[in-house]
Amino acid sequence: MEHFAPNFPRREFEASQTAVRRDIDNTIPQELLPNAIRLSWWLQELRNKINRIYRTDSKARELPIIVTSGYRCPDLNKAIGGSTSSQHMKAQAVDFGVPGMTPRELVDFIVKHHPGYDQMIEEFGRWVHVSVVADSPRGEVLVARKSGGKTSYSPLKQNSK
Ligand SMILES: [Zn+2]
Repeated sequence: MEHFAPNFPRREFEASQTAVRRDIDNTIPQELLPNAIRLSWWLQELRNKINRIYRTDSKARELPIIVTSGYRCPDLNKAIGGSTSSQHMKAQAVDFGVPGMTPRELVDFIVKHHPGYDQMIEEFGRWVHVSVVADSPRGEVLVARKSGGKTSYSPLKQNSK
């Protein structure tokens, strides 16, 4: 797959208000493009499944996936206080949400219908972070919460079905 998916073009992964405000060039380096393209298609397949399986009214408008953070060059990652080992810096991770779905609903949907992720984190009840890698995905699912100014990660308790 040499091209980005139709609903998730390259600019979706490079866009960043912080980068613009701080005059940081957040262009994805050539060597990381395959990672970004892999993420793009993972998101496209998820979008297709959400609209095929989750959206019950087929006459309603298609549900979009809103990407809030994709690639982060090291300067941008530092500017937003990201983890020094963040997969965003390798163009392997994306933060996103779907209007009309809670982050928890989205995580549950992905666990059930769209595995293959490396790591998925429901972050602060606000958005979902997913990383996708070429080989041996961990399939790890975590919940991130803040307490006392610190972020703690715990395994997601799966709904027993
Ligand atoms: Zn993230």
